[in-house]
Amino acid sequence: ETILIQTPSKKYPVHIGSGVIEGLSSYLIKSFPSITNVMIITDENVADLYLNKLVNTLATIDTVSYVVPSGEKAKTFDVYYQCLTFALQQKLDRKSLVLAFGGGAVGDLAGFVAGTFMRGIPFIQVPTTILAHDSAVGGKVAINHPLGKNMIGVFYQPEAVYYDLNFLKSLPLREKRSGFAEVIKHGLIQDVSFYEWLLEHIHSLDDLTEEQLSYCLARGITIKGAIVSQDEKESGIRAFLNLGHTLGHAIEAEAGYGEISHGEAVIIGMVFALQISSDKLGFTFNHEKLVSWLNQLGYDTEVPSHLSVERLLEKMKQDKKSVGQTVQFVLLKEIGQPVMMGIDDDYIVNKLKGFLK
Ligand code: NAD
Ligand code: ZN
Repeated sequence: ETILIQTPSKKYPVHIGSGVIEGLSSYLIKSFPSITNVMIITDENVADLYLNKLVNTLATIDTVSYVVPSGEKAKTFDVYYQCLTFALQQKLDRKSLVLAFGGGAVGDLAGFVAGTFMRGIPFIQVPTTILAHDSAVGGKVAINHPLGKNMIGVFYQPEAVYYDLNFLKSLPLREKRSGFAEVIKHGLIQDVSFYEWLLEHIHSLDDLTEEQLSYCLARGITIKGAIVSQDEKESGIRAFLNLGHTLGHAIEAEAGYGEISHGEAVIIGMVFALQISSDKLGFTFNHEKLVSWLNQLGYDTEVPSHLSVERLLEKMKQDKKSVGQTVQFVLLKEIGQPVMMGIDDDYIVNKLKGFLK
């Protein structure tokens, strides 16, 4: 299956399915006939598992590979700088391409390298995590600063995304859980029938069938693609993609990155935002049904009790989306109808106190 993403700056295909990687080399030869070489940026885990296979698939195309640490350790100034050094040493030029091979961390790093090396060279995404259905679409690429995550970046769209589900088979359950949170989010903000389908059909993330996985990822990508195509640079509706992220980011930061995964934190943030939605907007929704389904999938749905409510509030106020001092939440009027709303501190603190595990 191929999903077309159309943004004002670029139109590009997302090929999704088992074996789609086989089409990559002929696409490159056809679309970039004067290509000099491809710099593959990948992380240590993905390199061990699949780098040989990818290089073999690219056959006659000249490749150079740069392996970075896995996870957020990839998104540092140091690693970014080392990538550029390597690119210069390997004599990459404006006819070279950067290929991101890995999860969201590798995609964010490699996209930033591609977007800034010689003022931007073409970029291909080959995602290997569920989370990357989100991060590989939409063109936000960034590295972290010690004072803030994703603070140094650009908007830079890829030429194409090759999402081969065979690479996802080795994904640890915890990473599946993290990524699947964004699938659920996409359903909640845009598509009530998809949301209902999920509750009815997905009962475990451990034994997702290939059909289920490809359907969920394709729906998620279509929804994200529709939103970013209307708002490439995040001036309006793209902010709805932050459902669950106001509290989620605060939990991630307070717990320490890696302690709670991004998706696990976002799930807690979504449950919280949906409850506020019922209080403030009269959103009618079966909260218990969602919570018991999420628990069945292995998610926690309350804030870990060792986290301080006051510090979580402080973190939310520092969010780059907060307006002045008022914390902004994405809430739902109904499933598929998100709105932004500023919420008072007192209300947040009280609500959070009742939300500790
Ligand atoms: P990740 O790239 O760190 O991958 C998670 C872990 O899974 C890593 O240890 C990695 O080595 C391993 N892994 C990857 N593929 C594997 C495979 N096929 N088999 C076994 N192990 C594999 O992280 P992620 O969860 O994919 O993405 C998180 C990152 O994405 C964060 O840095 C976040 O900021 C970013 N993100 C960006 C956007 C965006 O719009 N740009 C959106 C959401 C998240
Ligand atoms: Zn997210």
